[in-house]
Amino acid sequence: MKKLIVANWKMNPASQRDAEYLFGLVKKGVAELKEVQVVICPPFVFLPFLKGLILGAQNVFYKESGAFTGEISPSQLIDLEVEYVIVGHSEARKYLNESDELINKKIKECLKEKLIPILCVGENTGEEKSVVLEKQITEGLKDVYHEHAKKVVVAYEPVWAIGTGKNCSIKETVSSISLIKKVISNLYSSEVADNVRILYGGSVNSENSCFYIKETGVNGLLVGGASLDAQEFIKIVKSAI
Ligand code: PEP
Repeated sequence: MKKLIVANWKMNPASQRDAEYLFGLVKKGVAELKEVQVVICPPFVFLPFLKGLILGAQNVFYKESGAFTGEISPSQLIDLEVEYVIVGHSEARKYLNESDELINKKIKECLKEKLIPILCVGENTGEEKSVVLEKQITEGLKDVYHEHAKKVVVAYEPVWAIGTGKNCSIKETVSSISLIKKVISNLYSSEVADNVRILYGGSVNSENSCFYIKETGVNGLLVGGASLDAQEFIKIVKSAI
């Protein structure tokens, strides 16, 4: 299985010109790296202008069309050749009050439309990790069929590690990955758990990325802040080879 390195640009950069420039640098830097799958998740407005790397969106709505002001549907993303969608990012859970129930609806609609959801899960400071992961995965994947579940990507992102420079230790990451696999295995089967790709995210940079890749058993990384620096991001991609 190829390692999957996902860039989450969040609400950056400020203009289409800057987005095209950053994308162009990354595209050039990873062009020869066929061993790694690179996905760029820019803000929605830049999606139509970025071509030549796999695209992801940072969120989605769970309806096909209609009176849902401000929302974007899975089929509209498919029309822009988007393949992946981040769902349940901790910033959407926090600032948009997204619940596990809403996240579940989004995941089901994505899978119906053949978009690959990247389900973000992770505990906040002071929360019991095993309880949070079990709830977010069980409720996020409620009524998702066996065959669909295999396609989901789960990103383990401890909330306290996102954008803080305080990344999760290798030991804790290993234990979280095995917990996530156990929850998926209990919900479905060990075969599904082996197919679901699991990423780590939270203050990844070019200094620590190789440790996550080589020592934790993850299938890849979800990179926020460091993905806005093309050279830094390219180094992270190269560390996954
Ligand atoms: C993220 O936004 O998913 C993320 C992991 O951010 P950062 O790499 O900046 O911690």
